[in-house]
Amino acid sequence: MNWKQCCVLSWILLTGHAVCADTAFVIRSVDTDKRVVALTFDDGPTRYTDDILDILTLYNAKATFFLIGSQLKRYPNYVQRIKVDGHSIGNHSYDHRHVMVQSEADLLKNIARSQLLFYDVLSMLPIYYRPPYGEITPAQEAILKKHFSYLIRWGIDPKDWDRKRSKDDIVTHIVTSLKPGVIIVLHERKQTVKFLPELILAIQQKGYQLVSLDYLTNNS
Ligand SMILES: [Zn+2]
Repeated sequence: MNWKQCCVLSWILLTGHAVCADTAFVIRSVDTDKRVVALTFDDGPTRYTDDILDILTLYNAKATFFLIGSQLKRYPNYVQRIKVDGHSIGNHSYDHRHVMVQSEADLLKNIARSQLLFYDVLSMLPIYYRPPYGEITPAQEAILKKHFSYLIRWGIDPKDWDRKRSKDDIVTHIVTSLKPGVIIVLHERKQTVKFLPELILAIQQKGYQLVSLDYLTNNS
């Protein structure tokens, strides 16, 4: 570990960067009058990331990618492209281990290891965290609050990971649940690449703009 990584690691472990007390930490949607919604893609980077980015560019849509730390160095070019294309990036743990089985020390180590990798690949530390499987204890939430500005959940979950759900089920579930400021959870899977163009068009046809979490949290 070089001196720069050592400084970042110390900063992550010792200081964190707590947000103002009056800022909501856990977010499923934001209050806004604007017809904007946020697509989020979990579990990347994967071999599908580049295709997802191509589709987002084609339809002039922005999104957010919740990436797994241990996978960052397998696809560094895709990770860079996410940033260059103007999408937001969040931390989805180091190894996708369920947070509730981890001790406080394990969780801190997991945060530090993953944030260090984000810093190595992107020269930035994500301010968004989404726990794998979405479950954490209140005590763990308090730890995460010291290291991230927002814990991002979702307002719409079409359960796209369920192989029994068809492309039409997923698109219909999302389009009929839309409301301004809502966050939609999706995963980087082969099927995602197939339904994504149709989904984006259907959302845009309802008058909604697809925005990143950076936009949503700064313009609500
Ligand atoms: Zn996940």
